Amino acid sequence: MKTEKLYYKNAYQKEFSSKVLEVIELKGDLKGKYGIILEKTCFYPEGGGQLGDMGKIEKILVLDTQFKDGEIIHITEKSLEIGKKVKGKIDWPRRYKFMQNHTAQHILSESFLKELRGETFSVHLGENSLTLDVGLTKLTWKDVYKVENLANKIISANRKIETHWVSKDNLDKFPLRKKPKVNEDIRIVEVGKFDYSPCGGTHIENSGELGTVKVLKWIKVKNGFRAEFICGERALNDYQWKNKMILEIAEFLAVKKKDLKDSVEKLFEENKTQRKKIEEMQYKLLEDKFKSEINQSQRIEGIPVVKLIFNDGNFKIIRKIVTNLIEVEKSIILIANIINKKANLIFARSSKENENQVEMNALLKLFTSKIGGKGGGKPNFAQGGGNVEGLEEAFKLIFKKIEENLRKK
Ligand SMILES: [Zn+2]
Repeated sequence: MKTEKLYYKNAYQKEFSSKVLEVIELKGDLKGKYGIILEKTCFYPEGGGQLGDMGKIEKILVLDTQFKDGEIIHITEKSLEIGKKVKGKIDWPRRYKFMQNHTAQHILSESFLKELRGETFSVHLGENSLTLDVGLTKLTWKDVYKVENLANKIISANRKIETHWVSKDNLDKFPLRKKPKVNEDIRIVEVGKFDYSPCGGTHIENSGELGTVKVLKWIKVKNGFRAEFICGERALNDYQWKNKMILEIAEFLAVKKKDLKDSVEKLFEENKTQRKKIEEMQYKLLEDKFKSEINQSQRIEGIPVVKLIFNDGNFKIIRKIVTNLIEVEKSIILIANIINKKANLIFARSSKENENQVEMNALLKLFTSKIGGKGGGKPNFAQGGGNVEGLEEAFKLIFKKIEENLRKK
């Protein structure tokens, strides 16, 4: 390792001067970009569950910082002169957020362990989402509150966060939450006599800087639960918009906050009942329309042949009525429902005597071949769809076919 890691000396250092030691032309996914190696750096390279830093070297953007072949690589879009003295500046708000996230995860993991005996077996600290996986067989809000309460107690006690560099032989001096992954230069991060864990990331200095930590939700995963959490200013922002939204909804519904859930449930149920009533009325109205159409329609060999075209009709109800009607009414019913310049079709007939000679699936196939569509079904009930253009001509053709078929007998 050529580079001196300034972030381990002082995680709060945002700017530094350094000499450019090496410039590498990157390959693969990073083709066209440069890897800058510096004499010293504040830029933290991705690792230990913490994302790599971004920022600037002189006026050149650092897109990411990575460990590569044992060196810290600052990934840039432009090259730099080797041997040149440069100034570096990290994207501090982003990095400080990561330091908070990291520290919050330490405190939360230890709180899960102390309160529920839940061991953290996996952690994901992304740009916008923070999760930890805990080995537990059950998890309730009551459990989570216990964990949160302990974590927030440690935060408000403003415990000091310290790092200890130790050798393998000295490890048993520390009540470690997990075993280190390295054998030498082991770095133990201590959250004020509360949590001790080996970690290579950057952390805040005092737990009070976290403000608060809150579990947002959790899902079941293999071997336990994945809890999503939030901390710092983001936790306050989250509380702000949620509180505002709840107040607004409560005001809108003219109920107290504590009655909100019951009110919404009641509204939902009422809405369901109303929708059902409306559907029943729509059904009755449409059914009457169908019956009167059957009475008035033209008859071929004594059989009423009904053609009905709907614009944006409720197809579910239409299909239900047609299905019921052909059980009791001796008739042939041809339906087109036009939605967004497309025609949905139902061709149906009762299964009684004369109409038996007219096969609806065959008719529908002929019909849809004229309007660039397709469909199929049974001899007494067929469904399909196609374009609106040519609909009238297709109907004329179908009526002619029905006439031919019925007169054949
Ligand atoms: Zn850490």
